[in-house]
Amino acid sequence: MKNLLVVSCVSDDIFAPISMYLMNNFLSEVVEGAKKYALELDADIMYLLPEGQKVEGLDGDVRFTSHNSPSLTNPYSVVQVLTGNLPRPMIQDDYVAVFEEKCVSVITPEAAYGIKNGFDEKFVAVNVGDKTEIKKATVGTSLLEIAEVSDAKAVLLGGLKGTFVTGQEAADTKIEATEKFNSITVYGQGECIVDACVQIMNKTYEMSCGKCVLCREGTSQFKQIVTEMTTGKAKAGDIDLIKEVSEIISLGAYCPFGQKMTNPLTSAMNLFAGEFEDHVKRKTCKCGKCYKAAELFYIDPDECVGCGDCIDACPEDAIEGKDGYIHIIDQDLCEQCGKCVSACEEGCIKTATKLPKLPKKKTKVGKW
Ligand code: SF4
Ligand code: SF4
Ligand code: SF4
Repeated sequence: MKNLLVVSCVSDDIFAPISMYLMNNFLSEVVEGAKKYALELDADIMYLLPEGQKVEGLDGDVRFTSHNSPSLTNPYSVVQVLTGNLPRPMIQDDYVAVFEEKCVSVITPEAAYGIKNGFDEKFVAVNVGDKTEIKKATVGTSLLEIAEVSDAKAVLLGGLKGTFVTGQEAADTKIEATEKFNSITVYGQGECIVDACVQIMNKTYEMSCGKCVLCREGTSQFKQIVTEMTTGKAKAGDIDLIKEVSEIISLGAYCPFGQKMTNPLTSAMNLFAGEFEDHVKRKTCKCGKCYKAAELFYIDPDECVGCGDCIDACPEDAIEGKDGYIHIIDQDLCEQCGKCVSACEEGCIKTATKLPKLPKKKTKVGKW
């Protein structure tokens, strides 16, 4: 054989654990599909599994990787992992990845299953709240029917590279066999989309392989900016900034993950522009999830006795002060966790939508 077909079971959508589901529940179909494809390619078959996973009855060349990377469907990236390197992709169309003198192709278990059984049915991971369920969807079923929910505020189609649609759009959309997404994540009417974007950007940041600067820096900056939107620290131009930078990243990032990782955030911003503006301009979250309008924490300078008990309670090192002086909360560092409140026996840590006049420099207790 002069070629190698790698069946990569490391999902490129972390919201859709379908690859391992198929390996464990439909192994013979996946193996048959892979064999059929390998015959066409004149290739040996290798299975690449996430470390720690076992597949009962799987024979042949099985390798493991500890890298949970979105690029493990890229042949070059797979070869990097097989040779003990980081899974960083190569995108050039004419690049031929070679492992042990064999040209490497990569296929997912989903594609192998489709080669065996045809593509008239589709496996979809449905995420509602903390629950993930894998369903076999029949072509033509509405997305909300698949999710078995009657009402939704928004649905993310696809994982970290996916696109938000409104609940109504999801209800009106019938699934097709050629659908690119493998996961449907449902957000209820009471859920905050900005907060949802924070969770998504945190995961996106973790998944970026760091090879190219646009994706590496972009994921880090977006994560920070969206988090700031939920803590009342975002600046007026942040929404436009994200949109502008997203276009640059989509054009310049090295692999499909980086090119599409801005989709969830930009689609959410387009669909829920008012909600983003509430967070950025009005510092409110109507869902009451994140930045709480009544929760800017401050220390009442008339009541603080300068004991310092609050300093150790603050995980963000946001409280400044020394013995006998009125303590002050640095609003740029405060994450509104409220842990300092119970540490203050005097009860002088309070909350307000708008901060009252507070000392700007070190002030002795009683001198305010
Ligand atoms: S776009 Fe992101 S995931 Fe892709 S190669 Fe660049 S850093 Fe890695
Ligand atoms: S609310 Fe939390 S972060 Fe803010 S000052 Fe208190 S302990 Fe620190
Ligand atoms: S614990 Fe209360 S009284 Fe003591 S320094 Fe902190 S805010 Fe002031």
